[in-house]
Amino acid sequence: MTSKLPNVGTTIFTVMSKLAVESGAVNLGQGFPGFAMDEKLSNLVHQYMIKGFNQYAPMQGIPELRKIISEKIHSCYGHRYDWSEEITITSGGTQAIFTAITALIHENDEVILFPPAYDCYAPAIELNGGKPVYAELRYPDYHINWEQVKKLVNHKTRMILINSPHNPSGTCLSESDMLELSKIVAGTDIIVLSDEVYEHIVFDGEKHESIARYPQLVPNSLAVFSFGKTFHNTGWKMGYITGPTHLMTEFRKVHQYNVFSCNTPIQYALADYLQDSITYLSLPQFYQQKRDYFLDKIKDSRFHFVPCKGTYFQLLNYSDISADKDVELAKKFTTENGIASIPCSVFYPDHLDEKVLRFCFAKEEETLTKAASLLCKI
Ligand code: GLN
Repeated sequence: MTSKLPNVGTTIFTVMSKLAVESGAVNLGQGFPGFAMDEKLSNLVHQYMIKGFNQYAPMQGIPELRKIISEKIHSCYGHRYDWSEEITITSGGTQAIFTAITALIHENDEVILFPPAYDCYAPAIELNGGKPVYAELRYPDYHINWEQVKKLVNHKTRMILINSPHNPSGTCLSESDMLELSKIVAGTDIIVLSDEVYEHIVFDGEKHESIARYPQLVPNSLAVFSFGKTFHNTGWKMGYITGPTHLMTEFRKVHQYNVFSCNTPIQYALADYLQDSITYLSLPQFYQQKRDYFLDKIKDSRFHFVPCKGTYFQLLNYSDISADKDVELAKKFTTENGIASIPCSVFYPDHLDEKVLRFCFAKEEETLTKAASLLCKI
C-alpha cells in the first residue's frame, strides 16, 4: 500500500510523552496544564448531563454558546461575528484547522506557512493535494520577513496560515505585522487562516492581535480558538472557528461529515461559564506568574533564553551545553536527566536545528521547581 503521508511518523508530542512516562521524567514536553481545571465548570457539565442534555447538538453548535462567543469576541477584539452564520463549535483547534484546510484547499493550491510551524498544518495541506510553501522564522526573535512573504505569493497562493501567540516560539505578531499581512492580501482572494488558540496567554501587558481586530482582514479570514487552552481542559477537545459566511458555509459542508456535532453537555456548560469574563481575562496574569517563576529558577543555568511573549511555552537554547542534535538531546535529557521537552527542529520542514528545546510551564509550582533544579544541574 502507498502511504498518503510517507514522511510522517508519530507526532513528537506522543513520542516525548511516552518516553517521559517510561523514564519517570518530569514532563515539560507536550503542552497541557498539569493542574486541575475549575470545578465550577466540570460541575456544570455534570448537571447538564443529569438534566438530560445528552443527545446530538446542532451541527453548528448550540445557539447559546455561539451567542456568548460572539459577545466575547466583540468585547475583546471589536468585531461582531454573526452567531448563526459565522461561528461553528469544533472538537478542538486541530479539527477546526484540518476541516478548514480540507474545505478550502484544492489540488496544487499553495499555502504559506511560517516554520517553526505547528506540526498539524503541513500534513493537512498535503492530504488535500495542496503545497505548503515556507517562510522560515529564526531563533531568537522569529520575526516574519514580509518582503520574503511577498515574493512567495503568486497566482497559486490560496491561503496564508498565521499563528499568534506562536507555538513553539512563544512570540506574538504585532500590529505592524498585521498591517503588512493586510497589504499582501489586499485585492487578492487569498484566505488567511489564523490559529489563535493561545489568544488569552499573552504577557508583559501586550495585547493579542486577533484577526478580529482588523476589519480589512475579517472578510476573507477564518480564526481558530480553543477552550482547552483557556480553561485548562485540553482533553475535552473543544474549540471554535469564526469567519464570514462564504467561508463558513464551505467549512460546515466538511464539518458535518467528519464530526457532525460536538459534545452537548460541555457546550451548555461552557455557555454558562463564559458569562463571567474573569475566567479568561485573568489568564495573562495567571500564566505570567508561572513563566516568571520558572525563568527565575533557571536564571543561573547554562541555558540561554529570551522570555516568551505568549503561549505557555518557553524556549531554551543549549548551544553552550552540547553540540548534539536537538532531537537526540531532548531524548537524552528525558532518559538520563529526568526532564522531557520538545525539540524545535521537528517544526521545520528541513529539520533546521538551532539547538533550541521547548518547555511547557503550565504546571504546578512544585513541578516547575523540580524541573528547574534538574535543568540547573545540566
Ligand atoms: N498543542 C500541544 C503542544 O504543542 C500538543 C497537542 C497534541 O499533542 N496534539 O504541545
